[in-house]
Amino acid sequence: MEIKQKFIQIYGREPQVFSAPGRVNLIGEHTDYNDGFVLPMAIERRTWIAAARREDRVVRCISTSFDSQIEFELSEDLKPEADWANHLRGIVACLLRDEYTLCGADILIDSDIPLGAGLSSSAALEVATGYTLLKLAGQPVDLVDLALAAQRAEQEFTGTQCGIMDQYIACLGVRGHALMIDCRTLEYRAVPIDSDSIVPGPRVVICNTMVRHDLTDGEYNRRRAECEEGVRRLSSHLPGIQALRDVEIEDFDHFAGSLPETIRRRCNHVITENARTLEAVNALSLGDMKLFGQLMYASHKSLSLDYEVSCPELDLMVGTASRIKGVYGARMTGGGFGGCTVNLVERDQVDNFVAEISKRYKAETGITPESYVTTASNGVRVEH
Ligand code: ADP
Ligand code: MG
Repeated sequence: MEIKQKFIQIYGREPQVFSAPGRVNLIGEHTDYNDGFVLPMAIERRTWIAAARREDRVVRCISTSFDSQIEFELSEDLKPEADWANHLRGIVACLLRDEYTLCGADILIDSDIPLGAGLSSSAALEVATGYTLLKLAGQPVDLVDLALAAQRAEQEFTGTQCGIMDQYIACLGVRGHALMIDCRTLEYRAVPIDSDSIVPGPRVVICNTMVRHDLTDGEYNRRRAECEEGVRRLSSHLPGIQALRDVEIEDFDHFAGSLPETIRRRCNHVITENARTLEAVNALSLGDMKLFGQLMYASHKSLSLDYEVSCPELDLMVGTASRIKGVYGARMTGGGFGGCTVNLVERDQVDNFVAEISKRYKAETGITPESYVTTASNGVRVEH
């Protein structure tokens, strides 16, 4: 394994190797922090960590994606710094606060998840690091606890008030399955996606617009605040609601007129997206990919018009996909403002789809996009 050899070259001793996947969300966008439903799957692209224990309390990290080597000491009081390693500091601090015992480590990170493209390289890194350090210290790993610690790490050390989806799927992904997660109860159900009973079988193709508009973190936190305001205002009509998850579409339609325009549209997205996600899980269970695809398009439209987290490149990528043969559905995936779309494509049309979408997107934008064809993979694991 290449990363092992590289580790030996750098650190002069044998490492253990662990990995965690990136993810793509099939449907249920911006619902996780509203106590709602999401349907992500782990992808084949992963972040690998080769690591060996140290006898002191130093964590030394090198990443093939960055030039600088970073060192810090294990401490509950670590703070974010102006470099690439805050996800590592964050998970260390959060695990220590959870009273896990950790030991120092030499770490080498490699990844084929594109960074900052909405496929959650950040959660893969947090989860892979946490798992690595727990294993090196001989600690038991509870995957749900690890996901929760990684979520807190991301919130506190990057300033994004993220929901639980990314860290959860990086921990709990199941090969051949998407995971329907109830972000309130944290219950989850694996739904087969590579099943032979689905005819013609779908493939997930991720298309990277190769753009990222700089709004991401600020707008993300603003959307959260807008949803909270929606709950506050709606609760005067619907006492007892805790989150938009608790609002039925019929009730919302009845009281929506009392909300300011922007808040109304944000709430409309979340409430209808929760309903679409539940319907999509049913469609997938029944192998009804046509319906699933229609729900993806409806999700995109809602994200673009009501939630306003799309951008011209994402809209173009989805619109273009909808005109290519063999496409069940397409939508933006992840936080938005750039990054990737997720496309469900008939298996035997995948090659044609990839060629066509690349050609047409490039003709319109001048940008050469990347496409990643993937099956559903496993969550964090030891590599042998
Ligand atoms: P996304 O999660 O969509 O890929 P983020 O902005 O949330 O985008 O996370 C990207 C950041 O995560 C990088 O800027 C870097 O700080 C960190 N990161 C992710 N993967 C790696 C890696 N392999 N090596 C070093 N840092 C990484
Ligand atoms: Mg991220």
